[in-house]
Amino acid sequence: MVWHAFLLNPRNYLEDCVRFGLNNLWVTGLPWPAVNAALDTSFNYTVPEEGKATFTTKTGHAWNNAEDSLIKTFHCPRCTQQLKIPWTTCCQGEKTSAYE
Ligand SMILES: [Zn+2]
Repeated sequence: MVWHAFLLNPRNYLEDCVRFGLNNLWVTGLPWPAVNAALDTSFNYTVPEEGKATFTTKTGHAWNNAEDSLIKTFHCPRCTQQLKIPWTTCCQGEKTSAYE
């Protein structure tokens, strides 16, 4: 989905392919046979539990991003203090407890 969205802006896609030396990616296009094989007739993408587990192991993220932590921990580049930053404040008030 992200790749498809990237392709919808072909100028930026071409620039990034050239910038990162991905000329073969530029001419390859989307792997439609693999996409078609992965979707059922209702356009559902069903992934085996083993695939989800592999994704979680390799990325450190939950398969369903709604199950990931809402907080990301960073180290301030200036003072190295550990900071806990919310990814989103969606469905929260304008000011969360972190900012009050
Ligand atoms: Zn700091």
